[in-house]
Amino acid sequence: MSNRLWTEEAVRLHEMFVAGKVSCEEIVQDHLEHLAAVDPGIGAFLHVAADQALAQAKEADRWSTEERQMRPLSGVPIAVKDNIVTQRMPTTAASRMLEKFYAPYNATVVEKLYAAGGILMGKTNLDEFAMGSSTEHSAFHPTRNPWQRDRVPGGSSGGSAAAVAAGMVPIALGSDTGGSIRQPAAYCGIVGMKPTYGRVSRYGLIAFASSLDQIGPMARTVRDAALLYHVIEGPDARDATSLPLTASPPTRSGPWRIGVPREYFQEGIDPRVGDVIDRYLRRLSDAGHEIRDLSLPHTRYAVATYYLIAPAEASSNLARYDGVRYGFRCDARDLVSLYERTRDEGFGPEVKRRILLGTHALSSGYYDAYYLTAQKVRTLIRQDFDAAFNAVDFVVAPTTPDVAFRFGERDDDPLKMYLGDIYTVTANLAGLPAISLPAGWVDGLPVGVQWMARPLFDNALLDAAQAAEALMPPFQFPQEVRE
Ligand code: GLN
Repeated sequence: MSNRLWTEEAVRLHEMFVAGKVSCEEIVQDHLEHLAAVDPGIGAFLHVAADQALAQAKEADRWSTEERQMRPLSGVPIAVKDNIVTQRMPTTAASRMLEKFYAPYNATVVEKLYAAGGILMGKTNLDEFAMGSSTEHSAFHPTRNPWQRDRVPGGSSGGSAAAVAAGMVPIALGSDTGGSIRQPAAYCGIVGMKPTYGRVSRYGLIAFASSLDQIGPMARTVRDAALLYHVIEGPDARDATSLPLTASPPTRSGPWRIGVPREYFQEGIDPRVGDVIDRYLRRLSDAGHEIRDLSLPHTRYAVATYYLIAPAEASSNLARYDGVRYGFRCDARDLVSLYERTRDEGFGPEVKRRILLGTHALSSGYYDAYYLTAQKVRTLIRQDFDAAFNAVDFVVAPTTPDVAFRFGERDDDPLKMYLGDIYTVTANLAGLPAISLPAGWVDGLPVGVQWMARPLFDNALLDAAQAAEALMPPFQFPQEVRE
């Protein structure tokens, strides 16, 4: 049957399944067929768990209406970024280092998906260990942007973003250390949210930079992102940085005071992206919201700060891949050459670059100049936002300075790639919740706008995002995947 179930939102699929209008098996089958038709040209998945998904669906079809209702994701196919560990599927982090790795446990978020009745369709592609902005650094294959196949989908959650934009799944999990949910969401024309640091358990997320990493939802609509977010949020005894679920602060229904940081429109922004955001802001003011100019003066240091702190933490987190404990291992005559050869052959060039950068920044004699200074600037960046949120309810800015670029365009210029992260790394450094929403188009490529809120105001952020979404035309699939 082809009801084009794959075009439906997660909330709709769930409703239809609960109402008995469609079986879970039909939903999963339709998505698997669509996936098989379009993914060969896109490469969003590293592993498709067709048999497991169908078995899960058959089990769900035996549930009573009440059981279906109790589980908010029953009837909903989901993809999971392949740096989130799954017991019954491989977890590679898109690295040779973990090529044949099966985790002995499920990440907390994965347990929550299962408990909520969600159907796990498989694992999506990423930049190796989530280090990158294009998914070109996957050790296995690149992922193509569903809107223009010669363009990158963004990264590092490029597989999840492309899978959602192309209708292979309605919702997916990504992870965001410096923009890896929001930037690919922007490049693929979908919604992607990085929750407040501590809102979602990191237990079972393969660590990149532990003080910055958060898991979050990606979807085609805000209400689908909210559905997934509410399933995964909450405290976890296995993650010491997870926060208690305090009652969320009351949401005002608007009009809001919206702050627009002028530093996010300065050097480096593609003027066509700037124009799209200007038009977007006019829509907001026409809808009655107050738009205020504001300054986040330390923005100019954000990229440098992030590219010291993230690699420093990565160099420590990645020390565990030594050829003894996990996955890949080289034959060697002695222990030292075992370590050396395993790490030399197991890690790709971008990961090595980060380890070198981070080890240097932490080394004695340089620690104060680099790592410690970066931590101090991180505090200044957080203070910029504290001051901003004394005056406004939300900060709204472009998600990226540009639209999806071509394969290879930034491959040999890491600095150029890093500079593209300027608008997203700040929310991670400050621990804020932030969401990227579709804002318009430049030459057939999507432009994203980012909404940021005070820490713990995730619900308020989602409510505002949903109201703002209503000012824009609804999501439409790329021509090539419409069949
Ligand atoms: N693009 C950024 C980087 O390369 C962010 C990655 C991420 O958020 N995982 O580090």
